[in-house]
Amino acid sequence: MIELSIQEKSKNSVIDKMISMGHEQVVHCFDKETGLKAIIAIHDTTLGPALGGTRMWNYANSDHALLDVLRLSRGMSLKASISGLNLGGGKAVIIGDSKKNKTPELMRKFGQYVDSLGGKYITAEDVGMSTKDMEYVRSTTKHVTGIPISMGGSGDPSPVTAYGVYMAIKASAKYKWGSSDLIGKSILVQGIGHVGMHLVKYLKEENADVIINDINKEKVNKISKEYKVKIFSDQNFYDLDVDIYAPCALGSTLNPFTINRLKCSIVAGAANNQLEDELRDSELLMKKGVLYAPDFLINAGGLINVYSELNGYDKDAALKQTSDIYNTTLNIFKTSEVEKINTHVTALKIAQERINKNKK
Ligand code: NAD
Repeated sequence: MIELSIQEKSKNSVIDKMISMGHEQVVHCFDKETGLKAIIAIHDTTLGPALGGTRMWNYANSDHALLDVLRLSRGMSLKASISGLNLGGGKAVIIGDSKKNKTPELMRKFGQYVDSLGGKYITAEDVGMSTKDMEYVRSTTKHVTGIPISMGGSGDPSPVTAYGVYMAIKASAKYKWGSSDLIGKSILVQGIGHVGMHLVKYLKEENADVIINDINKEKVNKISKEYKVKIFSDQNFYDLDVDIYAPCALGSTLNPFTINRLKCSIVAGAANNQLEDELRDSELLMKKGVLYAPDFLINAGGLINVYSELNGYDKDAALKQTSDIYNTTLNIFKTSEVEKINTHVTALKIAQERINKNKK
């Protein structure tokens, strides 16, 4: 049975949280010499080794880091499952300021911890980590994906993630308005980082009316010049009168307060864990008539890309599989309508069923 209300049930000890969210193993790492503080969470390895990136973030405290890694790793299990990949879900967080606390020694030490798990957890790049950092990690463990193209790997997964999100936006348009055409549709892209900027490119190629929002002014200026898009600088973008809201920054932007303000018809974006409380907020969106494309389904392109690397990278095959996100998203919407269950819970059930079927 899927455990849904994580927020309420994650108050107690680590083992209580693991039981509540279904984690197999959580490894806390501390190294006095390098100052490394990290947590590796392995959610479920029924379908295969737990794959998920390492995030370096200056968390307010270790409880926040733990909750983040638990939620993210569970999301990876669901993402792999619904995408038909033979992978489990895992994630790691390094606690610290990625601009100040990084050293090659710290990264190598982290790699040793990953290596100690013998391939049960495979890491990759995530927020706060760079390709250079991953090279240090790779010097102490072979259990790393997202290797640069120059070294025979699949490179940055973000453009493929953006392609999958673009496919899901088109599927959402098809379901909502009867056509996947995005010409003239107003789309707010919040966060124009690695994924968001590629998404803007796809949307502009189709002559959508794109509005960008990012706290990084330099990026905003650069992308607005490059693609001739509108800018909305304020953080009060929730009540903007747009057709589609694409959250591509950080998670938890959807909660009762923000959902109440939404004027858009569709929410479809790349950010992980967009719903602050997945049961409550997915239900609120449905009741308001906003079509929600589940995040863990539509941002799976990057995972599909690194999965391909494990089996000998084939870019065309990875893109083709990512384009299937269009059909999967449409099917989820149809099932949700027939079963009268919101789209997020529908996707959760399908992902969990595949895992359950494969349990020995
Ligand atoms: P990124 O760090 O490159 O970009 C995030 C952008 O969001 C940055 O430009 C940042 O300035 C901006 N931002 C942060 N807070 C903001 C706020 N409050 N308002 C507006 N903008 C804000 O990250 P990314 O790789 O582009 O990933 C974006 C999201 O997609 C993340 O949630 C990530 O977990 C998720 N995701 C990424 C991938 C991938 O392949 N990179 C895959 C799956 C999911």
